[in-house]
Amino acid sequence: MKDYQNKVNKLDKDIECDVLIIGGGITGLTTAYHLMNKNLKVVIVEKNQIGCGATSKSTAKITYLQELIYSKLKDKALPYLKYQLQAINILKYIIEKENIDCDLEQVESFVYDNNKENLIKEKEILESFKIKVNMNENSISVNDTYVFHPIKYLLKLKEILLKNNIEIYEKTNVIKIHDLVYTDKYKIKAKKIILACHYPFFLFPLLIPIHCYLERSYLCSVKNVTNKKISSITSKIPTISIRYYKDNLIYLNGSHKITDNYNENKNFNNLIKEASIYGDIEYIWSNHDIITTDHLPIIGKLKNNLLIGTGYNTWGMTNGTIAGKILSDIILYDKEYELFSPKRNLIFRINNINNLLSTSKTLIENKLIPNKKWNSKNVIFTKINNDNVGIYIDKDNKKHIVYNKCPHLKCNLLFNDVELTWDCPCHGSRFDIDGNCIMGPSCYNITYKKQ
Ligand SMILES: Cc1cc2nc3c(=O)[nH]c(=O)nc-3n(C[C@H](O)[C@H](O)[C@H](O)COP(=O)(O)OP(=O)(O)OC[C@H]3O[C@@H](n4cnc5c(N)ncnc54)[C@H](O)[C@@H]3O)c2cc1C
Repeated sequence: MKDYQNKVNKLDKDIECDVLIIGGGITGLTTAYHLMNKNLKVVIVEKNQIGCGATSKSTAKITYLQELIYSKLKDKALPYLKYQLQAINILKYIIEKENIDCDLEQVESFVYDNNKENLIKEKEILESFKIKVNMNENSISVNDTYVFHPIKYLLKLKEILLKNNIEIYEKTNVIKIHDLVYTDKYKIKAKKIILACHYPFFLFPLLIPIHCYLERSYLCSVKNVTNKKISSITSKIPTISIRYYKDNLIYLNGSHKITDNYNENKNFNNLIKEASIYGDIEYIWSNHDIITTDHLPIIGKLKNNLLIGTGYNTWGMTNGTIAGKILSDIILYDKEYELFSPKRNLIFRINNINNLLSTSKTLIENKLIPNKKWNSKNVIFTKINNDNVGIYIDKDNKKHIVYNKCPHLKCNLLFNDVELTWDCPCHGSRFDIDGNCIMGPSCYNITYKKQ
């Protein structure tokens, strides 16, 4: 497996293919898995490395008990549940068939809510679909759910895909889609294109911020704890979510709309304070996902040759897996899937207006008064040759200079002192200390180039 993990193959020429998958997370790789050995030339392009996106930073619970989603979905609850159960079966099938060592473990998953009536309602809905649900003091739980190690899973999938003639190009960034797909240097001609890149940045005027928004959460891993073989989540804000990995507790505390409450230091401090009760913190990180206003993912055909899988509402292990099945079925059999269709009438509700208002407010505020009060003491903002730059001075006194504007919509960036990244408070792009883009929507780096 090591050879495949280490092998990073960059695109070095113009190419043609039947199916181009943009993004090497759970959506992209699962789609490619279903398209293997079907007489199609399938290519995956990944701007960083396989498995380094949102999938790798999730808590990786594989569960259909997802907060109180079935009460929210009403008449869509049963079809949604069926897809979640199917996704769990697909994941288990792939792991077993391919003998993937990814620490899959069955655990009881819990949802906590202080309001008993909410729990009873969710339980009754699930029981009407013949699901056995346990009622506890202030939680409900189900037993047939899992956790796993998502990076181990994706790296093994990468190995399987390469062995089965799927071409994978890493460090290959798509910057534009017209008739052809353009990377930084080369062109790709594809009969079908699948956007598996998490944030659908190439298109969709008004999908974000009207029908979707980004939600950021803060996580850490606490070492040397007793594994209780459970996972749990609260149904209301502040979100607290936990799972175990061997003798580590993965603890998530605090989620917010990316445009609200963008105070990384405060949010991380709060996380550290809460998690320290359980033991010594070993790792700490943040992650964000795309939330849809109707609670359903967006999976399917945008145009004849353009497909998408996104908007998993923080449940991407199941929804990314089912996206792989749906997207490959559309390619292979031209099947229609109504429930998650991007063309569905994403209900225009008050939430949508709120999203638009809060994103616009942050955007305007950011442009008028670039808020630097949360930035590290080790960061200087200045101008070099009329360019606004941010300079991070590391512990060895080395200066790392970047342009202090997100290439996406020119928002001013904030420095995230904990993860040492430059983060866009408007749309979630992230850059490392040297300005390399590690998360979209930006397609470009912000590395300062001396004139
Ligand atoms: C804090 C948190 C906890 C979560 N916990 C869970 C959980 O317990 N269970 C669960 O089911 N889900 C969970 N999720 C949700 C889940 O992590 C995501 O929904 C899922 O990983 C998204 O998968 P993806 O394949 O769409 O995106 P990604 O994994 O981000 O993959 C997309 C890939 O596309 C690449 N890319 C982007 N732009 C380009 C470009 N221009 N050119 C080439 N490549 C590009 C990226 O580099 C990335 O590797 C959680 C999410 C968060 C934020």
